[in-house]
Amino acid sequence: MLRSVLCRLSRIPRVRRYSAPAAIPAPSTQPDIYFNKIFINNEWHDADSKKTFPTINPSTGEIICQVAEGDKADVDKAVKAAKDAFKFGSPWRLMDASERGFLLNRLADLLERDRAYLASLETLDNGKPYHIAYMVDLDLVIKCIRYYAGWADKYHGKTIPIDGNYFCYTRHEPVGVCGQIIPWNFPLALQAWKLGPALATGNVVVMKVAEQTPLTALYTANLIKEAGFPPGVVNILPGFGPTAGAAIASHMDVDKVAFTGSTEVGHLIQQAAGKSNLKKVTLELGGKSPNIILSDADVNYAVEESHSGLFFNQGQCCCAASRTYVQESVYNEFVEKSVERAKRRTVGNPFDSKNEQGPQVDEEQFNKILGYISSGKKEGAKLLCGGGVAADRGYFIQPTVFGDVKDDMIIAREEIFGPVMQILKFKTMEEVIERANDTQYGLAAAIFTNDLNKAHYISHGLRAGTVWVNCYNAIQAQAPFGGYKASGIGRELGEEGLEAYTEVKTVTTKVFQKNS
Ligand code: ADP
Repeated sequence: MLRSVLCRLSRIPRVRRYSAPAAIPAPSTQPDIYFNKIFINNEWHDADSKKTFPTINPSTGEIICQVAEGDKADVDKAVKAAKDAFKFGSPWRLMDASERGFLLNRLADLLERDRAYLASLETLDNGKPYHIAYMVDLDLVIKCIRYYAGWADKYHGKTIPIDGNYFCYTRHEPVGVCGQIIPWNFPLALQAWKLGPALATGNVVVMKVAEQTPLTALYTANLIKEAGFPPGVVNILPGFGPTAGAAIASHMDVDKVAFTGSTEVGHLIQQAAGKSNLKKVTLELGGKSPNIILSDADVNYAVEESHSGLFFNQGQCCCAASRTYVQESVYNEFVEKSVERAKRRTVGNPFDSKNEQGPQVDEEQFNKILGYISSGKKEGAKLLCGGGVAADRGYFIQPTVFGDVKDDMIIAREEIFGPVMQILKFKTMEEVIERANDTQYGLAAAIFTNDLNKAHYISHGLRAGTVWVNCYNAIQAQAPFGGYKASGIGRELGEEGLEAYTEVKTVTTKVFQKNS
């Protein structure tokens, strides 16, 4: 008996365990482009209009390739495909929840298989350093998909003891056709944040990827097909915001829209939802996150964490530490060391592993950031380093630090989305809590201190969706992420990330007395 069990066990293929790669494989600096069209029903299509647009390499300003330009007609086709895939009784609707989890895990396996290629393509199209794309972005992507694979058969309803003779239970059902609109700063990671919870809970998706960075999301579309998701479950369109994006937000057959991007466009998405079919809306928007350094903090450590909290991803993070508040007794030391660190930051070819910083994503962002730097100088902030262009081609900007920043300066109020650090001085905790909260945003915040009570006191006072204590950017799939105030509606990631993708149905059945 034991022998036959062991014999059967020996035929089971060895389970491959995820472990962080020991070394980063060399990038492909000119990765082949396999997919540049619209993905509907697991097939590739030209745009209905036959139009295309160029996607640009931000390191050089040169065209990588042309990409199909999705518009309203293509959104209509994608929504129809998604609706068909969602019909009651369709293979997707009949699929066991555990099978959905299995498909997501298979997708994660394929992402892992093609990790070096995807990281190379992300670097080419977005400009982020390859070693960071490989180690950070792809790590988040793979773990996020696996995390939600695990949820597929574990997110369930309750039986509820309502009064009277009833059997009452709730079902967590998919919302239906989910429109998902993603930006360019983390093309693969934000695609995973959106697909993971939507697919784990059995929804169908029409995703519009950012016009600046369409390539990796399109490659992932093909992995979705390879993983075995039925046609129509995921449809992905490259295209522009005011056309393809707006068509999703106002579509009468889209049941929910999930958007990540600017607060300005967030307003438009919510208006479009209100004017059309009142589709559910989740928004992950801008930020102007306070990063508070108390005088008892380990200054060297706080300088390094604050540096990466702001400069990570070329400063193109919605949660960037873009208002650094430093308590007056350590202000001079902190400023001096932060400037010294920013001067050491290596900027250049993102395929070269010695570089910490690549180019900004496009010319528009590049010019916008340079405009903010001029505004900082004009308003009297002290430019301590950087402030200019870092290369003679491409969209590289020098790591820039401003000191003596005042709360009412534009650079302290608006989202710069670039490698520009603002340092402000404060005296007391009460003062800094009030100043930190004096913003339309409320996405993230951080506190550096060695006093646990101060850490708790300030974190309770801050109006932000995430507060990091003695760390920054500690974002992982298991913990919810999202904003207070104009930084958003709803939460992504974690168990909370599933809520927006489910409708709760209450089923109540009258139970009759045995002999009545
Ligand atoms: P950014 O300024 O960082 O590019 P946006 O908010 O403009 O951020 O863009 C984020 C995403 O929203 C992109 O996919 C973009 O195409 C899309 N988008 C832009 N304008 C609209 C719009 N009016 N309706 C829907 N989506 C839009």
